[in-house]
Amino acid sequence: MTRARPSVDELERGVSAGERPALGRAITLVESRLAADQVLARALLERLLPRTGAGLRVGITGVPGVGKSTFIEALGKQLTAAGTRVAVLAVDPSSTRSGGSILGDKTRMQELARDPLAFVRPSPSRGSLGGVARRTREVMLLCEAAGYEVVLVETVGVGQSETMVAGMVDFFLVLMLAGAGDELQGIKRGILELADMVAINKADGDNQEAARRARVEYARALHLMPRKSAHWTVPVVTCSGLSGLGVAELWAQIQAFRAALEQAGEWQQKRAEQGVQAMWRAIEWGLLDLFRGDAALRERVIAQESRVRAGELTPDHAALELLRTFRP
Ligand code: GDP
Repeated sequence: MTRARPSVDELERGVSAGERPALGRAITLVESRLAADQVLARALLERLLPRTGAGLRVGITGVPGVGKSTFIEALGKQLTAAGTRVAVLAVDPSSTRSGGSILGDKTRMQELARDPLAFVRPSPSRGSLGGVARRTREVMLLCEAAGYEVVLVETVGVGQSETMVAGMVDFFLVLMLAGAGDELQGIKRGILELADMVAINKADGDNQEAARRARVEYARALHLMPRKSAHWTVPVVTCSGLSGLGVAELWAQIQAFRAALEQAGEWQQKRAEQGVQAMWRAIEWGLLDLFRGDAALRERVIAQESRVRAGELTPDHAALELLRTFRP
């Protein structure tokens, strides 16, 4: 069954009025790959743009099982209890390719999802995102236009998704677990470089002492890394999404971050720079779409692929030849 496409007028009105069903439909429109939808989505975003920008955009990452959804539910409920409107989005790198979802199904954060001050967007369904995080920025803007003051973007600490998310939010929070001394190995180091704060989660029960030790270790490691900002020292805190312990203190630090960067003029500068980066990403994606969609090129592409596969041509050379023929 296909549903009649809502008009841009209707969506603009509904989103501006903070209506959740309208916001949901607007997000679906923005995530759609259909050319006709994309035209409408652009028109809608342009109209809503003046209503955006006031939100606090926070990215939250961590490996599966670190306690992201539990933490977000705890934080979200604390915020809505204080009268703050919170939107939660998920960027799941697994859902487009494998069909499986690392971030789980639509039953997550059920309590928060029922809260009238909250909007929880389920993990994007299979294939709805044309590439990791491609539409997340626009979806964040839609949430702001709908009056959400805090937008939490959840992502998994694998692949490129966290780098992308870190590049489109104001604050990037990395959740970690106290482990057996190997915390700072491998992929985690790369994630630490993106962090505006590291929180050792599940610091409750028998785990409290280990969490304290991990906190000291991470603080030491971060001390040796280049600073992201002259106006902010990346704190390492402990918290428990399950008990809620440390969550309010953690949020206070995020607000301190905002105050410090706003005062230094770095807040707006960072947003402006992110806008430019988003433009370049859109150019890359746009060019790639044109290239892949170029019917005249299709046979040549297939031919070059097999030559590369057979080792007759280097990948670079093959690409160069194709790009030379490409006339969009
Ligand atoms: P996610 O995969 O990162 O979203 O993690 P979940 O929030 O789904 O949590 C994974 C598991 O860890 C679940 O069994 C939770 O009950 C448990 N968990 C989550 N947060 C905490 C916490 O703060 N303390 C403890 N002890 N367990 C937690």
